Amino acid sequence: MLFHYHWLGALGYPLSSKHKKRSDLSRGFVNLTGPGPQDPLNIQKLRFQAAQGPQDVADLREALKRARGIIGGLTVSPWIEGETSPGSRVQTDDEIDEYIYENVFGHHACCTNKMGADDDPMAVLDGNFSVRGAAGLRVVDASSWPDVPGYFITTPTYMISEKAADVVIAAASRRS
Ligand SMILES: Cc1cc2nc3c(=O)[nH]c(=O)nc-3n(C[C@H](O)[C@H](O)[C@H](O)COP(=O)(O)OP(=O)(O)OC[C@H]3O[C@@H](n4cnc5c(N)ncnc54)[C@H](O)[C@@H]3O)c2cc1C
Repeated sequence: MLFHYHWLGALGYPLSSKHKKRSDLSRGFVNLTGPGPQDPLNIQKLRFQAAQGPQDVADLREALKRARGIIGGLTVSPWIEGETSPGSRVQTDDEIDEYIYENVFGHHACCTNKMGADDDPMAVLDGNFSVRGAAGLRVVDASSWPDVPGYFITTPTYMISEKAADVVIAAASRRS
C-alpha cells in the first residue's frame, strides 16, 4: 500500500479554518431584505472576494509552501508515493492561488448575529442572548458568536445553548 498526501484534506481544511479564525479578514454578510419573517435573506459568503480576500489567499499560499517544506522532507519513506493534491504540477504562486480559489471552502458559517457590548453597533444581541430592540426574542445558535469560536464550532454552540437555558430559566424564575 502506498500513501498519498492530499493538501485539501490534510492541510487546506485545517489551515483555512485556523487561518479564518485568526485572520478575521475577508468575511461575508447576511442582510434582511424586509421586515417580514418570509422575506428572503440576502446571504453573501463572498469567500475571497472581499477587499482583504487577496491577503487571505496570500497567507494560505505561504502556509501551503511552508507545510510542503516540512512534509516534503519526511516523504523519503518507500511507503509514501507523493503529493496528490494540488500535486507537483502546481508550483508557481499563480498556480497555488488558483488551487486555493478553486478548492478552499468553509461550511462553518457563524457570527452574523453577534453578542456584544451596548456600545458595539454590530452587536445584535445583548449578554442574555436577547435581540436588541425586540422584546421577548432571543437567538441561540452559531450566529450568536462575536468571533469564530474555534476549529469546529458545534461543541461551542452546544455550550452556549446550555448557558442560554440557564439564562432563560433564571429570567422565568424572576417573573414567577
Ligand atoms: C457539511 C457540513 C459539515 C460540518 N461538519 C462539522 C463538523 O465536523 N464539526 C463541527 O463542529 N461543525 C461542523 N459543521 C458546522 C455545524 O454543523 C454548524 O456550525 C452547526 O450545526 C450550527 O448550529 P446552529 O444551531 O447554529 O444551526 P443548525 O444546526 O443549522 O440548526 C438550525 C435548525 O433550525 C431549523 N430551522 C431552520 N429554519 C426553520 C424554521 N423556519 N422553522 C423551524 N426550524 C427551522 C433547521 O431545520 C435546523 O434544525 C458542518 C456543517 C456542514 C454544512
